[in-house]
Amino acid sequence: MRFKEKVVWITGASSGIGEALAYAFSREGAHLVLTARRTDRLEQVKNACQGPGKILLLPFDVTQLDLHPTMVGAVIEHFGQIDILVNNAGVSQRSKVIETDFSVDRRIMELNYFSVISLTRHVLPYMLQRGQGHIVVISSLLGKFSTPLRSAYCASKHALHGYFDALRAEVADQGIFVTLICPGWVRTEVSQHALRGDGSEHGQIDPSIAKGMDPHRCAERILKAVHKRKEEVAIAGPEGIALWLKRFAPGLLSKLVRRVRVT
Ligand code: NDP
Repeated sequence: MRFKEKVVWITGASSGIGEALAYAFSREGAHLVLTARRTDRLEQVKNACQGPGKILLLPFDVTQLDLHPTMVGAVIEHFGQIDILVNNAGVSQRSKVIETDFSVDRRIMELNYFSVISLTRHVLPYMLQRGQGHIVVISSLLGKFSTPLRSAYCASKHALHGYFDALRAEVADQGIFVTLICPGWVRTEVSQHALRGDGSEHGQIDPSIAKGMDPHRCAERILKAVHKRKEEVAIAGPEGIALWLKRFAPGLLSKLVRRVRVT
């Protein structure tokens, strides 16, 4: 029971990594706030949670930034505190720069970056007031290097590192921890919901995602990283080698990503 009676707010909790995190935190005794747009799926997740903690469903579109103060207020009113905010909701991309409508670039940034920093900004004062709290951000390996067909996605994830590394340094002596998680391929709905250049959904399970990590395994490793208050953790299979290449052989990685067939 590593998170007994902690109040954990997970965005994107209706499927994939967020859903798996809900089960994992629940098993560890946490109280949960679950956010996503699909209310029916959130209900299913709530019913499948097996832990002793209370669960508040808070369905809303996180890109509606004007709702953030009200939603944060609702959580504080219900639980009195927020111990851990897991910024997980996100969308991927399947289109070249040249074929991507600028509105799609903006949609990806709105969800993957602006909604994340806005929600964090509204939660932070309550954490600072208590002198404790933990902000968790689900980035990606693609927050550390880029591949074709993911320009806005990579940009949004890279931006998270810039922002949250700065925040970590600002609040380190005020009891607030910041953990950036960089998953590789995880078997979720991510490729189905990924946006094409015209804003339509890709609608397919890509082979890399189909053979990716089990989301429950990924969630367990995220909990471990949060418990240990890690600053940044990569959670990946063999594709994680790219991080090593980025650091020690960036020229080679640059050549490889031009050749690798990305879907
Ligand atoms: P899923 O598509 O399964 O989950 C995405 C979640 O985000 C869903 O719960 C979805 O719920 C929610 N969401 C999407 N748009 C909104 C919105 N506007 N408002 C509120 N919630 C929203 O994919 P994953 O679980 O894989 O993705 C979770 C995170 O992990 C993302 O940030 C992704 O970038 C990251 N990631 C995933 C990897 C992978 O291989 N799977 C690899 C690296 C990073 P709903 O539709 O009900 O709103």
